[in-house]
Amino acid sequence: MPNQIQYDVIILGAGAAGLMSAITASKRGRKVLVLEKSNKVGKKILMSGGGRCNFTNEFVDSDNFISQNKHFCKSALNGFSSQDFVNLVDQHAIEYEIRKRNQFFCQGSSKNILDMLLKECDAGGVDIQTHTEINHIRNVVCNENNEVHSFISANRFVLEGTFKLGSNQRYIEYSCKSLIVATGALSVPTLGGSGYGYDIAEQFDLSITEKYAGLVPFVFTDSLKPIFSRLSGVSTLVQVECNGHVFLENMLFTHRGLSGPAMLQISNYWSSDDRLLVNLIPNVDPGKELVRIREQGDKRLIRSYLTEYLPKSLVIELQSMWWPKHSELPINKINPSELINIGYKLNNWIIKPSGTEGFRTAEVTVGGVSTDGINSKTMEVKNQPGLYFVGEVLDVSGQLGGFNFQWAWSSGFAAGRVA
Ligand SMILES: Cc1cc2nc3c(=O)[nH]c(=O)nc-3n(C[C@H](O)[C@H](O)[C@H](O)COP(=O)(O)OP(=O)(O)OC[C@H]3O[C@@H](n4cnc5c(N)ncnc54)[C@H](O)[C@@H]3O)c2cc1C
Repeated sequence: MPNQIQYDVIILGAGAAGLMSAITASKRGRKVLVLEKSNKVGKKILMSGGGRCNFTNEFVDSDNFISQNKHFCKSALNGFSSQDFVNLVDQHAIEYEIRKRNQFFCQGSSKNILDMLLKECDAGGVDIQTHTEINHIRNVVCNENNEVHSFISANRFVLEGTFKLGSNQRYIEYSCKSLIVATGALSVPTLGGSGYGYDIAEQFDLSITEKYAGLVPFVFTDSLKPIFSRLSGVSTLVQVECNGHVFLENMLFTHRGLSGPAMLQISNYWSSDDRLLVNLIPNVDPGKELVRIREQGDKRLIRSYLTEYLPKSLVIELQSMWWPKHSELPINKINPSELINIGYKLNNWIIKPSGTEGFRTAEVTVGGVSTDGINSKTMEVKNQPGLYFVGEVLDVSGQLGGFNFQWAWSSGFAAGRVA
């Protein structure tokens, strides 16, 4: 007989959502255990925001999330708002800065946020155990001595049972009345990304929506690849558009393609075969301007005029693609229709990525456990009392800017206040 370890609430995964669930449940006097498969807790928190953790955003709205049910996230986001998280950060006297007028980052390091969560767990008497990978779950009905009385066959019987968990700790069996699945998603396997949450969902007859890598750089294999590779490290402000979504952010050239906030944001809305519409000089009509300065007798070359707006190395590459014949001609000697044509290309560059870098580098997994079977106020599975899903494992994925952590805090709180 394996050793029986019993808790009121067991949480799978010591990431952002799992730790927030643990804090909230422990404040209600629940005996809480967090089981984490890796050697450390909160790995993604530590790596986030370039080491400064973009922990929330001032303006959080359901429009900042992708989900098959756009309304699902609203209740949890209202129940624990970005201001609630900022209040917690303030209570712990963690210094932060607000970037781009709405993104909250630590001034020191991401570790401040993880330390804060662990202190809160400690205050609530939460037990956290690393190196424990749960690989087997049964939902059973027990008698008063915690002995198994009968098995519950997943969704077929809607009964309040006890969850029995088997793990790599072979001689221990964990049991609990409330089981919170906070195992995250597929993005960045080296930081704990795992598909185990989806297996649990399927075991309990929940469906999984299509999943793909989000907030991820694009790769190119066509003639643009060597050009982007030569420009690697160069960044410029662009407006990018795909499937009706538009972002005005920086774009970064890389050895393999395109990255930077503009490309990460639009990747959430991109599917294979889609093209991206890139405006290299947003809010300026360079065709019109070129014609105007031509009429004033401007003798500069097009590339000299464009370096007012774009990095020189980029202008040189664009020149080779779009106006090689006019490269050494002064603007006042170029036909106006040619200038308008060049300006149009600068405002409407259509490019087709061959793919993305995939889950290896994606900040988030778009899609996940379908919200159809989940109660939006509590994150509890509708047909399985006591079972909860929180955080990135669910089909709720945020844009860049602190929204994914806010979803982890809010959904973790929603489950923790009832589990
Ligand atoms: C490099 C990077 C930077 C990011 N920066 C930001 C940012 O600045 N702002 C922002 O809002 N979002 C950011 N994100 C996204 C954010 O980190 C995630 O959305 C968030 O961490 C999801 O929280 P979670 O608790 O659901 O999952 P996770 O944080 O992934 O935690 C899941 C945990 O479960 C554990 N686990 C998995 N399977 C098992 C199992 N079978 N048994 C036990 N434990 C298991 C994992 O080891 C992991 O610790 C970033 C992501 C990455 C990859």
